[in-house]
Order: sequence, then C-alpha cells, then structure tokens
Amino acid sequence: MPIYEYQPIQAGCSYCGKGFDVLQKISEPPLQHCPRCGARVRRVISSFSACVSEPAGEAASLDSRLNGYESEGKWSHAAEMADKAGLKERAMDDYKKAGYNF
Ligand SMILES: [Zn+2]
Repeated sequence: MPIYEYQPIQAGCSYCGKGFDVLQKISEPPLQHCPRCGARVRRVISSFSACVSEPAGEAASLDSRLNGYESEGKWSHAAEMADKAGLKERAMDDYKKAGYNF
C-alpha cells in the first residue's frame, strides 16, 4: 500500500498542522478532512517517491532504447543518444561501429 502525504488547507491541529502521512489503498478515496480535528486537507505528491522513481525510470528507458538501436544496427542513433547521456565509452564504441573514425 502506498503512503500518501496530506497537508492542511486551513489551520489544523498538532497532528495535521505540518502535514501528515497516511497508509491507504490505491482504491481508497483521498481524505478530505483531518481524522483528528476535521480541518480540510489536500493530498500532495510525496517528494520522496518522486525523487526515487524518476531517475531510475529514465535510466531504464534510455538503456532499453540504446539496446533497441544497437540491436537494429542503428549505430549512429545509439552513439548520439549515449553521447548525450554522458556514456562516452559506449558512444565511442557505437560511433566506430557506425563507421566514424577518430
Ligand atoms: Zn488536524
């Protein structure tokens, strides 16, 4: 079950005043009110999960796209992508396979 982070829209109690986390099922509707004082709250995207999931997802998709180009023999495409991603050795390797000479 994911942990959702809530922040009060109006002045809350000591529990919700600075935001709080709730373990909820994905199918559960978001909370509208603090369970303790009833102040209105809104759900916010947790900065923790956003930080962790984004770079990993990008790296995975970059790698799979590189593998795709390489398996299709599109060496210059793969080289350019690897170069932009800072993968210098892989870029050099792909440039050589593409027929470039350094
Ligand atoms: Zn409260």
